[in-house]
Amino acid sequence: MLIIDSHLHFDENVDGTAVGAAHELDRQLAKAGVARAVALHLEFQPWSAEEFAEAVATTERIKAFVNLHPDRPDAVSQLRYAIEKLGYIGLKLHPRLQDFAVDSPSTVRLVQAAGDMGVPVLIDAFPDGVHLMQGFHPVRYAILAKQCPQTRIIWAHMGGHYVLDFMMLAKRLPNVFFDISYSFLYYRKSSIPADMVYAMHSMRFERIFYGSDYPDRPIGLSLQQSMDSLVTQGLSNEQLAKIMGSNVCEFFGWADLIDSV
Ligand SMILES: [Zn+2]
Repeated sequence: MLIIDSHLHFDENVDGTAVGAAHELDRQLAKAGVARAVALHLEFQPWSAEEFAEAVATTERIKAFVNLHPDRPDAVSQLRYAIEKLGYIGLKLHPRLQDFAVDSPSTVRLVQAAGDMGVPVLIDAFPDGVHLMQGFHPVRYAILAKQCPQTRIIWAHMGGHYVLDFMMLAKRLPNVFFDISYSFLYYRKSSIPADMVYAMHSMRFERIFYGSDYPDRPIGLSLQQSMDSLVTQGLSNEQLAKIMGSNVCEFFGWADLIDSV
């Protein structure tokens, strides 16, 4: 089965360098049989977009999204630079940690620009206590997506415990996708994973991607626990294959991996 990890990060605690983090990540991915992974650069980590891109370029297996703050005046030109010169394949936005409004004019402008450049945008959609107090609401994500119909947007973590609201919105927004990272294992002992699987069924197992949010857990452990749980929840092999790799492979148009299936 083709396995692609659509959402992970570099671990700052390998040797402190981006190259060291990339190599350790690549080693774990290879060992776990993960064919490709999308690493999300983060502004609050100790590496510049250039350093991060250089580290990513040392491996075949890892692609990357750049993290920018939508309120910076040069956000659109910085995104163009990251895509065209540094080799990034998408934009990562983190409204909670970067503290900006999902539906603000500057966010809309940057997300529209990503669509014009033909790259997707991944937005953190995990409602922890901080994010809730900042005014987190699924509708604000929908307002952004509706104003950017040319941009493919991934709602990361499937909206956490708001998964059913996000699912209902996604049904009216064809440019929206999900990853299941973090939430699926974080809420393990609750009813949320069953709701996430319900949402998968309701969306016919389309537009939903596996992700680990490494270094939350080691790559192999996240993969094993996620697959075990999905199988326990009754997914067929065909349904599992869509979530674990083929949906996201199609999303990015990675023909080399499609051929290898
Ligand atoms: Zn993450």
